[in-house]
Amino acid sequence: MYQKNEIKKPRSGKHPASSLPEDYIPQAFEAGWQQFWEEKGLHQAETYSQRPKYYCLDFFPYPSGDGLHVGHCRNYIPTDVLSRWRRMQGWNVLHPMGWDSFGEPAEQHAVSHGVHPRVTTDRNTANYRRQMTLIGASYDWSREIDSSKPEYYRWTQWFFLQLYKRGLAYRDTNWQWWCPVCQTTLSSHEAAGGVCWRGHTGLTRREIPAWYFKITAYADELISGLDTVDWPEKIKAMQRNWIGRSEGVEITFPILKESQGGSKSATEQDYMVNSGIKVFTTRPDTLYGVTFFVLSPEHPLVSSLTTNEYRNQVDDYRAKAAAMSEIDRMSEEREKTGVFTGAYVVNPLSGERVPVWIADYVLATYGTGAVMGVPAHDQRDFEFAQKYGLTVKVVIVPPGSSQPGEIDEAFTGEGIMANSGQFDDLPSTEGIERVTSYLEEKDLGKRTVQY
Ligand SMILES: [Zn+2]
Repeated sequence: MYQKNEIKKPRSGKHPASSLPEDYIPQAFEAGWQQFWEEKGLHQAETYSQRPKYYCLDFFPYPSGDGLHVGHCRNYIPTDVLSRWRRMQGWNVLHPMGWDSFGEPAEQHAVSHGVHPRVTTDRNTANYRRQMTLIGASYDWSREIDSSKPEYYRWTQWFFLQLYKRGLAYRDTNWQWWCPVCQTTLSSHEAAGGVCWRGHTGLTRREIPAWYFKITAYADELISGLDTVDWPEKIKAMQRNWIGRSEGVEITFPILKESQGGSKSATEQDYMVNSGIKVFTTRPDTLYGVTFFVLSPEHPLVSSLTTNEYRNQVDDYRAKAAAMSEIDRMSEEREKTGVFTGAYVVNPLSGERVPVWIADYVLATYGTGAVMGVPAHDQRDFEFAQKYGLTVKVVIVPPGSSQPGEIDEAFTGEGIMANSGQFDDLPSTEGIERVTSYLEEKDLGKRTVQY
């Protein structure tokens, strides 16, 4: 730590206390102070210290050719204020900066410009460092790291080997988003809205072998850990949703050919061969009660499913949903909204025609991005059905009671199956097993664990 009497006037500009100029000219004033901070090493953390410790970690940016933008400042300035405040209180503050400089963008840039990524990465990081100094960020530059340098990535490789040895990194084949332009797979976040995060369209789903981290091995720990952090309840609930492990069945609902729509019953229709929409459910015992189907507005099939008659309202709705955050979309307090696409799927058990809607409370990034609507046995589906005048069909009757006509809320408990064809009169817990086995036998679904 420095002593007060050590502070001298910076080489350029004027000391703020002596005489303030009428105009604030940052170039004339700030450079001197920045040089002064640098010379004094004011922002360096001490490796060993008796003072209280404070670690303030920003996310390390990917150094693109465009340089810093205002969004970086939005993240970095509050943490800088916090770090400075702690230093002023006498804490030993570690506030480091580094570069997340490996990956697709560097590779793409190298391919399209014919320049080695080492050259462009070094050029970009130098510019970022210059800009961060310009805004006066108080990083400990003596601890700068660069993830594309061998001194750093040898540890990335070491970590990977430890994970591999413990079976926590493994190879598997799975359905992935594929961008035909980038020639790479994309995460669901990178493919949100069916558009590559670099703006390319024409994304497809492909079955591709890839490396995976077994994050699910920590699902229980991650969930219980949420009890120990001071986060808003809304965020915690969403995290639990994302991590949560559920056993269920993935069911394929065949899509009805648009050209054969109309009032005919489903059994009279041709199904599109091998074409259906996958949905995950933990309640296959309620399958006969499915009276509508909901896709996330970003679901890849929405465009092709939507009929001309409904295209305008679907496009409008998708544009509005795209502008909202996932947190807002999943908020329990918000009234659920949705629009009909004009398309139908077929209930694989009952053969009934089921209208396909889109609704923003269904997220493309969670599960299959599709939900089967069972209004009699799911409260959210019930409210949705009430609002849009959709059929409510009771298929589970509470034990010891008779089959109700009208209901005023969903019954979500266990009971006896009804209106369910060959499964009538089975206890619903047994029904889950029986319906799942039946679906697997008929190749209409498969047992799945979802996290
Ligand atoms: Zn792309």
